[in-house]
Amino acid sequence: MFERQDFGDAVETTPVVTIVAEDTACVAVEEVAIQEAWERVRRRLRAELGEDVFSSWFGRLELADIAGGVACLTVPTRFLKSWLEAHYTERLRVNCMAELPAPNGVMLSVRTVSRDAASGPRGEAGVLSRPAVASSAPAEAGLAARTGGSQAGEGDLVDACGTALDRRLSFLSFVVGKSNQLAFAAAERIAAAPAGQSPYNPLYLHAGVGLGKTHLLQAIAQEARRQGKRVAYFTADRFMYGFVAALKSQTALAFKEKLRGIDLLVVDDVQFIQGKSIQQEFGHTINALLDAGKQIVVAGDRLAGELEALDERIRSRLGGGLVVEVGALDEALRARILASRLEALHGAHPSFQVGPDVVAYVARVVATNGRDLDGAANRLLAHATLSGQPVTLETAEAAIRDLVRTREPRRVKIEDIQKLVATRYNVSRADILSERRTAAVVKPRQIAMYLSKALTPRSLPEIGRRFGGRDHTTVLHAVRKIEKAISEDRSLHDEVDLLKRMLQE
Ligand code: ADP
Ligand code: MG
Repeated sequence: MFERQDFGDAVETTPVVTIVAEDTACVAVEEVAIQEAWERVRRRLRAELGEDVFSSWFGRLELADIAGGVACLTVPTRFLKSWLEAHYTERLRVNCMAELPAPNGVMLSVRTVSRDAASGPRGEAGVLSRPAVASSAPAEAGLAARTGGSQAGEGDLVDACGTALDRRLSFLSFVVGKSNQLAFAAAERIAAAPAGQSPYNPLYLHAGVGLGKTHLLQAIAQEARRQGKRVAYFTADRFMYGFVAALKSQTALAFKEKLRGIDLLVVDDVQFIQGKSIQQEFGHTINALLDAGKQIVVAGDRLAGELEALDERIRSRLGGGLVVEVGALDEALRARILASRLEALHGAHPSFQVGPDVVAYVARVVATNGRDLDGAANRLLAHATLSGQPVTLETAEAAIRDLVRTREPRRVKIEDIQKLVATRYNVSRADILSERRTAAVVKPRQIAMYLSKALTPRSLPEIGRRFGGRDHTTVLHAVRKIEKAISEDRSLHDEVDLLKRMLQE
């Protein structure tokens, strides 16, 4: 983004030039060709799915890289990622493989806030941009395969098995506080124990987004590797990808066989493991390794017992080992994490300095998680670099304003609810507003009414008016009916929950 000024107008038409150095002109040509191919993928998807579906689900999909013959695609939110995976994996794969030099398929990961912030205004067609390594990960020039600012691992490709590790995410750089000290202690013990002699097996870590699960898992894996243990580290994506690739290549050695020789298996974001056969394979793998006395470390965003997608026995095996929750970061811990991140940035950009008052202010207002603290640190750096001014409380406030703002819940409109629900259930918005009473229309209509009541401040009569002039008792009936159905039907519950999150993001 900084080069923009130097290149002047030319940048607008050939954005890719902004991110390559002079001596890499042929790389730029290749990237332009790839970008055109990516544009064709988008056109195909739009033609196949229609403008509505396309813009709902694919508008913010970007091609970040092609590595090892795999197209690495990114979306801005985890929700979008799981939605695309659940509904459009095959379509994406087929279209990408048809147009892109990506014979090995497709991988989806989540772009980080920091990357979005650092890559500047996004191009209409999803500009092929390199990750903002310069501003978000100064410490590791050697790790060119990194694809996400702070989200180490997700989307990385090293070899057919496992995920790259990010040296930055070590025990040393992990800041310990009340909410994570148990998890930290367990992680250190496991990493240090001689193979086969860990006191805690399996370890299941759970916590909300950005609270340090991936950081700890990476730290365990690296420390164990350093001690000569054989470690396999997977994100859920990577596990699924490896499994599918093994199936395709027909050398289909089960994962558990392939992993027979390792000492430690680490699996991150286990809640994203999807698909019946993959879940089974995951279950077999865990069982076989545990039975053979191998160490397993798994992280997820919920209690093991709540990993609905997994087989009951696996849930109880994961839940039966050491289970540790990482709690929310309190203000003091946030300040220390932020300070250590700023320190690292200062190392790479010596003129970039941030005073303790600004650190305290940012740690107070960015109250969510480590990922947002990373985002805030990157924004401060971008601001300081662009303006050439030292960071003050005022500039800090301006720099992170939109970060704080985007964290506020979005106001949901009834029209958006109707559109989304219609798209999801393959009916038109007009059907939802109509008098039609076929089951195919009634259910989505009731769900849309329920969501309108749940997510907007509108009254029942007002909602009735917005649904083709219906009576408020009809709306009430719909709300009650869906409430009841949700309480009885787990998959409907998840489905509606997904819609809610989508609308609020
Ligand atoms: P999760 O996997 O739980 O979503 P991450 O491990 O990706 O969270 O953490 C998000 C960001 O916050 C990372 O950059 C991570 O290094 C940082 N972070 C979280 N907790 C800590 C901590 N205790 N010390 C240092 N950095 C942390
Ligand atoms: Mg994580």
